[in-house]
Amino acid sequence: AAEVRRQPALPANDVVTAPAIRSANARPDYDVLVVGAGFAGATLAERLASQAGKRVLLIDRREHVGGNAYDEHDAAGILIHRYGPHIFHTNSDEIVQYLSKFTKWRPYEHRVLAAVRDKLLPIPINRTTINGLYGLDLQDDDQAAAFLAARAERREIRTSEDVVIAAVGQELYETFFRGYTRKQWGLDPSELDKSVTARVPTRTSIDDRYFLDSFQAMPLDGYTRMFENMVDHDLIDVELGVDFRDVANRVTVGHTIFTGPVDEYFDHRFGALPYRCLDFQHETHDMERFQPVAVVNYPSEDTPFTRITEYKQLTGQVHRQTSISYEYSSATGNPYYPIPRADNQAVYKQYEALADALPDVSFVGRLATYKYYNMDQVVGQALATYRRLAPRIGVKAIA
Ligand code: FAD
Repeated sequence: AAEVRRQPALPANDVVTAPAIRSANARPDYDVLVVGAGFAGATLAERLASQAGKRVLLIDRREHVGGNAYDEHDAAGILIHRYGPHIFHTNSDEIVQYLSKFTKWRPYEHRVLAAVRDKLLPIPINRTTINGLYGLDLQDDDQAAAFLAARAERREIRTSEDVVIAAVGQELYETFFRGYTRKQWGLDPSELDKSVTARVPTRTSIDDRYFLDSFQAMPLDGYTRMFENMVDHDLIDVELGVDFRDVANRVTVGHTIFTGPVDEYFDHRFGALPYRCLDFQHETHDMERFQPVAVVNYPSEDTPFTRITEYKQLTGQVHRQTSISYEYSSATGNPYYPIPRADNQAVYKQYEALADALPDVSFVGRLATYKYYNMDQVVGQALATYRRLAPRIGVKAIA
């Protein structure tokens, strides 16, 4: 019988269950196990199967593909995003070309309003915001720049609070940022790394687009359909509702791509990496339109939620009713946002060192690298991982 051994990554007395058992002599059941069917996992599974001819087992412990970008039709038949609004935007032609193999697009430019002082004003702050908030009539960029410069405070930049006050001054900081940040992170901006708001995107123009990327769009038939197209390949088996610990004991694989939480992979041996969690209260209303734009932010701490999303405005779906979600931040639940503080990064670095020492496992995506990434960045990271990995796992020609 073939000798069966665990992947040689960890010391023998380690409590961690190695991700998959590999037969030293026999051909493994799959060339690659991909854990997690979000952007990171789906991209790698697709590349490895379609370009490298590898046999891939793609698993996810959720009952669906798509990770946090998953969308679904609710009881009313309206396409909603279960885990909050996802708007695709990028400056990378390569990533657009890649994803365009699996979806057509609906052009969409995201606009967000903030509910402050009984008004709905554009965010990021622009000239319209300033005029609306202060009852002014600033006519051009120069006037708006002078207005902001007169309020900006010179100070040493250490925290998020410093970043914002140095850019727009105390009053705009308190109106638009302080309460929102406290709700979003459960921390005062003065306790958060300056990187959280490294640059406050303040505009002196009246451009009210939320993103300025060259490509902004929604997948025409939704994210889930796009993911289904990505993983629809003879060489990819998909198992849903399965945790990788369960698979590890019954399947042999050559290489593992892990896109779940890196601290969980290593049994939290250096402690749990903190995440901010979200709750969504989804509702359907008997009206065609609920609010003027897809997303309205609620910066004040008087409201418990951070924002309301109206999904039809993202997707362009026509329906006599409309579905919205209230978004609440919390300390417990599904991990969503890594909390950007130096002490958390230091813990992550310890996990990263362990991860780097595992030649047969690649850690990819937002949870496995403990970093907030946009969708396009995760696709970019996954494509780069594929290019690096391919020669190591016997792929000659890389597309
Ligand atoms: P995920 O999508 O989280 O996928 C990881 C998958 O791994 C999950 O499905 C999980 O179930 C699975 N998994 C984890 N552990 C295991 C295990 N042990 N066994 C089996 N399966 C496991 N980005 C944008 O570009 N635009 C936006 O508008 C945008 N909006 C966002 C809104 C919110 C509320 C949030 C939280 C994020 C948003 N993002 C947005 C970021 C986007 O969600 C991420 O970039 C993207 O989902 C990351 O993909 P991923 O594959 O790394 O992770």
